[in-house]
Amino acid sequence: MGCVDEITEEQLHTYIRQGEFEMYLQPQYSVAGNALVGAEALTRWKHQGEFVSPAKFIPALEQCGLIAQLDSYIWECAFSLQSEKQREGIFLIPISVNVSREDFNEIDVYKTLTELSEKYDVSPAYMHIEITESAFVNDKEIIYEAVSKLKDFGFMILIDDFGSGYSALNILKDIEADIVKLDMKFFDLTDQNNVKARNIICSVIQMAQLIGLGIIAEGVETVEQLDILKEAGCDIIQGYYFYHPMNVADFDALMRSLNKGRIRKKADESSFGKECIAESRKLLEKAEYGDALTLVQRAAEQINPATDPRTYCDMQNLTGVIYGAMGNELLAVEHYLAGLSVALKNDFSVVSGKLYNNIGSEYQSLKDHEHAIKYFELSAKELLRENNSGQENYVQRAFVTNMNLCVEYYALGEYRRAEEYLNQAEIFVKTPGMESDMFHFLAVQSNLYMKTDRRELAQEGFPHLMELAFNAEDRSDFWDDMEMLGNLALELHEFAAMKRVLDNMENQLHMFSEEQIGLDIQVKIQEMRLAYCKGIKDEKSLREAELAYIELCKKQYLEGKRTRAAAIDYKIQLNMQYEENVQYKKQIDIDQLTGVGNRYKLEKDYKTLKKISGENGGQIGVGIIDLDYFKEVNDTYGHLQGDYYLKVVSQVIKKIISSTGGIYRYGGDEFVVLLVDVDADEVTKIAQQIRDETESRQLCNQASDRNVLTVSQGYVVLDQIKNIDIWQILPYADRQLYNVKKNGKHGYRIIDKLI
Ligand code: C2E
Ligand code: CA
Ligand code: CA
Repeated sequence: MGCVDEITEEQLHTYIRQGEFEMYLQPQYSVAGNALVGAEALTRWKHQGEFVSPAKFIPALEQCGLIAQLDSYIWECAFSLQSEKQREGIFLIPISVNVSREDFNEIDVYKTLTELSEKYDVSPAYMHIEITESAFVNDKEIIYEAVSKLKDFGFMILIDDFGSGYSALNILKDIEADIVKLDMKFFDLTDQNNVKARNIICSVIQMAQLIGLGIIAEGVETVEQLDILKEAGCDIIQGYYFYHPMNVADFDALMRSLNKGRIRKKADESSFGKECIAESRKLLEKAEYGDALTLVQRAAEQINPATDPRTYCDMQNLTGVIYGAMGNELLAVEHYLAGLSVALKNDFSVVSGKLYNNIGSEYQSLKDHEHAIKYFELSAKELLRENNSGQENYVQRAFVTNMNLCVEYYALGEYRRAEEYLNQAEIFVKTPGMESDMFHFLAVQSNLYMKTDRRELAQEGFPHLMELAFNAEDRSDFWDDMEMLGNLALELHEFAAMKRVLDNMENQLHMFSEEQIGLDIQVKIQEMRLAYCKGIKDEKSLREAELAYIELCKKQYLEGKRTRAAAIDYKIQLNMQYEENVQYKKQIDIDQLTGVGNRYKLEKDYKTLKKISGENGGQIGVGIIDLDYFKEVNDTYGHLQGDYYLKVVSQVIKKIISSTGGIYRYGGDEFVVLLVDVDADEVTKIAQQIRDETESRQLCNQASDRNVLTVSQGYVVLDQIKNIDIWQILPYADRQLYNVKKNGKHGYRIIDKLI
């Protein structure tokens, strides 16, 4: 094969034109899901009737500066195949293409790949990019920059040949990769009991999971290798043990055959598709995502959007829901959009409403409130169109969308708009047949009451809410419902009820295996338990709960689900609490960022004050101080700057009130002040001073019409506080603050002699 070394550009193009190069695909297989989850594109060259090994011609082309010519041809084959399948309505799985280090020197890789994505109208979600580990060692900048742009465009980045021996650990820290490909040939497993190799494999896998990377094991040939990988928690396998690389026709046949027989009869195609969908939905409910996915995949091959648009939309929606449940928002949205284009074309407004709503929910789970709202509003718009009201599921859909909008505005602190949507939702929830949604409605309503000075109403409705939750027949939202209820009980200081909720959750927990429940729920329960122990001030149980919580967190990062930082933070906090007992006492009183007291300290100081005030009966002032346009500070100048502003303002206030009382960090950008032995005149003076001194600091804030950071303040002055709780006073101060904010911010208001 001497020709390999001397190949010219013209020759290469002639060979490509004559079809000597062919794209083969090697399946990437999920063992647990029994599903194909991807495939790698590998080039095959048949020259003069014989296959030339890539191990020969790839390095040769790299040497003579021609590899990019071949690679861009193969990338185009991959995009073209995906777009063909997309047109036929066949289910797509991502294809990984190889990008050689030399490609970055020869062509603009980013431009080539993004142009292909646009030319073939194939989302980058369906194309993965493999870059070998060694590429990151040399030519650093150019590759890092390209990778970062490719990622921003939506491609997933795979580090190929991971473990082949370069400075692998450092690389993981620096590259924004999504998945590592662990090649078994780099581990010496000749002696199958090689403990060292096993340990290395396990720790590499654990480490990747720890920082949230996916893993594909490559080159798996034996059952022993497979066992090691399974034990280490690696599920996706690319290797001869399951499949060799194959041509496109064989790959298609494989996709089709994989799940034949799972459903027995195959009468006509469309009913077969529907059966697959129904089966898949059942599997989804049992959280068997891999199998559910393979079945909708089968359905997708049968259902034609032109002849059966409704089933098609249903199928795309279900696929989206499955991907969403698997944590892949990108692909989820991809499928919702596919369904949406057909639903809009056919004027299925209830279906479009549902699809928009589901897209919103994906954003909701990413805590991107603005986008979530955008899609929920589109959903509401679809549902508001005439001719809907008679349609099946309309009431349910309209309820869900309005509730979602309510919850999102609530999360943004826009309580008035939240309430508008809640009122809309109320119309639907009162329709016969919607009884099982009443709990959700009332629970959200109570939370809204809590935020808007109507604690009494929340308190009043609480027993009914408990009753609904405990008598519900529909258990589908059990965990969410219980969580909401528990948190509400906590806020209302209904500790007995909270205990009942917690016990109920823990009882349920014992009825399932650990895998069925998942760690997220266990963590959630444990977090509630922590809050409960804090609430009832049971220090001993609190410690026990905290230890149990750490154990769960540890497990969780082994599953790669929790950000490392959060868990580490928590650990550090705990160490600080336990190792130095004196420190511990202070620590839980003090806000970490600003060094002023926190809510806990506020509650404690207020109690002391209550005692004293009972003895000598002086007046007290309670104020809430809020930084104006603080969100904009964070958005424009970054969180570090935001943190700095919080520190400055807290110090300004602290200095002014140091002889009269205390300051506490109450929320993100809200402080509470407790002023002892003051009357309304004195409070006015303090408020003016706080207003002026903050402004005089000249902290830049373009969002404010004064161009500098200002604060808004609301106060109450009380005669005696014997029977009132601090949480009952704060809403009155908050109301004053609200009025200031409504009237242009940067001011203060004081209400005198409330009680
Ligand atoms: P790679 O990217 O690491 O690809 C995986 C190689 O491992 C493939 O070899 C595949 O056939 C092989 N393999 C997969 N499972 C097993 C297994 O269980 N046992 C063994 N022994 N091998 C397995 P292939 O196709 O010969 O390609 C070799 C290398 O050539 C690739 O390594 C890649 O670096 C390069 N290559 C292949 N096609 C392309 C391409 O289109 N562009 C570029 N730039 N490089 C390519
Ligand atoms: Ca590869
Ligand atoms: Ca590889």
